[in-house]
Amino acid sequence: MRREILDQLRSEYEAQRRENDRLFFARRAEVEQKSPEIGRLMDGRQQLIFSSIRSMISGQHTGDVEEQMAEMNRKIRTGLQEIGYSPDYLEPQYRCPICQDTGYVGDPVREMCQCMQRELSRRLCREAGLSGQEEQSYETFDLSVFPDTQIPQLGMTQREEMDYIRDRTLQWVQHYPDVREASGVLLCGASGLGKTFLMHCMAKVLLDRGMQVMIFSSFKAQDIMRKAYFSRDGQSDMDMLLDCDVLLIDDFGTEPLLDNVTVTQFFNLINERQTRRKACIFSTNLTPKNLRDRYTERIASRMLDARSMLLIELRGEDVRRRA
Ligand SMILES: [Zn+2]
Repeated sequence: MRREILDQLRSEYEAQRRENDRLFFARRAEVEQKSPEIGRLMDGRQQLIFSSIRSMISGQHTGDVEEQMAEMNRKIRTGLQEIGYSPDYLEPQYRCPICQDTGYVGDPVREMCQCMQRELSRRLCREAGLSGQEEQSYETFDLSVFPDTQIPQLGMTQREEMDYIRDRTLQWVQHYPDVREASGVLLCGASGLGKTFLMHCMAKVLLDRGMQVMIFSSFKAQDIMRKAYFSRDGQSDMDMLLDCDVLLIDDFGTEPLLDNVTVTQFFNLINERQTRRKACIFSTNLTPKNLRDRYTERIASRMLDARSMLLIELRGEDVRRRA
């Protein structure tokens, strides 16, 4: 998916450069009609650039090319002003002046320009189901929203615990699949403790690492599985559910339990992904006991297996109610 998005982006950048060229030649023709003199200066400048490149290649002294260039540029700019144009009317126009719309910077080591990185990240987020959540990341993770008061049963404050959870989950996403708990992560806790936010942060890092990531509400995941079960049309979504590098399921336990099918389908999903060695990250309001009651021991034992799953429990008070 990353490959396709990147190819698409590159071809858009190429189209942008063609558009820049088209605009430049159109402007130039327009100016030349009004002032043939500026046209001649532009030609002269082009000649100068070519001949200085030739001299450089053959190792000859290039003389005072810079001075000549500056003089020509000055004449072009004043000429433009004299016929009522802005002095930089014939300067190259770029959407991104840093990479000049190539999408890459640096020599000899070429790196993706920030403009392309931003756009790539935005599109990857959209594909992963994270639209509009691009700002939620470990960089914007604000510990100060969590109360700094002691929670007696924790022996620390909610903020201190969140600090630990932030580092622990970050470590996991930075190293997956080279982690002990390679089956995934379970984020448990009541509403408003920051589980969904944390999930988005985790997804973001995985995406930036080039992984194929999908994030769904539990409800949506159930819908995909049911569609695939009842018709062939839903199969491609189902393949993605089974095969993406990391699958994130938000609000596990809020989907309706439809006869026995829901439990069986989730079991199959978890089982199949484990077989393929692909991780799941769940967030849930359910306690371990609730998980067992709702999904049977078969599912719960896999999700709660601390040898293969990173179990994170968020405790404290609802931060959304704090004003
Ligand atoms: Zn750029």
